[in-house]
Amino acid sequence: MPNPLYDALFAPLSLRDSRLLILPDGSEISGAAFHAMIARAANALRAAGVKPGDRVAAQIAKSPEALAVYAATVATGAVFLPLNTAYTAPEVAYFLDNATPSLFLCEPAKAASLAEVARNTVLKTLDSKGGGSFGADLAAAAPDFAPEPRGPADLAAILYTSGTTGRSKGAMLTHANLLSNAETLADLWRFTPADVLLHALPIFHTHGLFVACNTVLKTGGSMIFLPGFEIETVLRMLPRATAMMGVPTFYTRLLDDARFDRALAAHMRVFISGSAPLLAETHRAFEDRTGHRILERYGMTETNMNTSNPYDGERRAGTVGFPLPGVQLRIMADGVEVAPGAVGGIEVRGPNVFAGYWQMPEKTAEELRPDGWFITGDLGQRDADGYVQIVGRAKDLVISGGFNIYPIEVEMVLDEQPGVLESAVIGLPHPDFGEAVFAVLVPRKGETLDPAQVLDGLRDRLARFKQPKAAVILPELPRNTMGKVQKAALRKTYEGWFKP
Ligand code: AMP
Repeated sequence: MPNPLYDALFAPLSLRDSRLLILPDGSEISGAAFHAMIARAANALRAAGVKPGDRVAAQIAKSPEALAVYAATVATGAVFLPLNTAYTAPEVAYFLDNATPSLFLCEPAKAASLAEVARNTVLKTLDSKGGGSFGADLAAAAPDFAPEPRGPADLAAILYTSGTTGRSKGAMLTHANLLSNAETLADLWRFTPADVLLHALPIFHTHGLFVACNTVLKTGGSMIFLPGFEIETVLRMLPRATAMMGVPTFYTRLLDDARFDRALAAHMRVFISGSAPLLAETHRAFEDRTGHRILERYGMTETNMNTSNPYDGERRAGTVGFPLPGVQLRIMADGVEVAPGAVGGIEVRGPNVFAGYWQMPEKTAEELRPDGWFITGDLGQRDADGYVQIVGRAKDLVISGGFNIYPIEVEMVLDEQPGVLESAVIGLPHPDFGEAVFAVLVPRKGETLDPAQVLDGLRDRLARFKQPKAAVILPELPRNTMGKVQKAALRKTYEGWFKP
């Protein structure tokens, strides 16, 4: 009986004696051993009452067992719902009320504080070492399991959007969505059974869970499975890896360490970046240091991956490359496609695009057109060669005195000023202009910045209306775990700046 995602990613492991996971202590888990872990977890899920179509919510630490819970949920025909480990009890309450899972897994240490918000579901616990009540169920369960039949359009996962504005929405991802993207990426990025991916990303997000794990599982490669990005462990494990996927901060942290040099990276096949913009400067510094050009790609929770720089061919800094094979991308303004070089809203269509937001038909209708085009909310442009550049989020667009300002354009010029490491440009309420452009500047290590002097450097570079009306200095930009700059937080902190 078919179960598309299970059949493609997990079933082949049963016959694999070679290692699938390498853990920080150097121990290894073979494909077959991991397959038995999946079967045990699937039996434990079924015994806990999980039925096909049910949601299984999990706010648990990254571990082989946690990955097995994802696979086991797919095997039982249920829908995996991973939650950011940083969410607090009131946040978790929202997800549990919205998704009504039949089982909620959390860490033993949090069970008491989450018991109340989990009152309408079954609560079990799992820690990073396989302990907890579900860990015990898992250990006692049988190591074989016949997966539930599923079709390509059935849901495999619901991932909630990060929800920096408004309520978080549950993106419904089907077997076909996830499988098509895994197949495309494995092919495009040339993954093979010989690959060893250094995996330091969280597995509650599309990047670490789907882009990284699914791609490797699809090709029969293995993963160095680290609980997080910890520089000592990453440097120690790098010689065993062939590929790495990371958010831009992983690459800046590597560059911050002098031990990360050309020799240490020489054997690597590819470094891939996404989830947030990679500064062109980081791209250049990385190439200077290692000789590798980072391969940047672009995607989101709702669509999986949409574009990628080429594997062969030029990887162009500051761009996210071309639409993936099978994915259509268009850039729209006022209902028509814009010319190359012009900015508009990015829309995508293809087998990667989600099935809608869980129980939010109005939200789905706002963003997913009936003919399948998804309005990403990202602003972008294509250069003359067809490379796509992300210019910002539609909601980050600043409209000052009636003029549209794309923050990235201002940020790029700010970043070139002497002593500036990076910057974030936001719009703040202003009595005359409606919104005023405001810059947050981060100095390079060991340098001090004078905001007025930095802004002076923009005089001949940018039209007057694009120049920030004020700037502040911060030691670093506020970022979430996926490396995204928290512009909403910055807007909140400085909202009164221009108020009379
Ligand atoms: P998430 O749904 O959390 O994965 O966030 C998706 C959003 O991250 C996209 O809509 C983009 O705004 C942003 N994003 C992802 N990859 C990139 C990239 N390579 N460059 C710039 N922004 C990106």
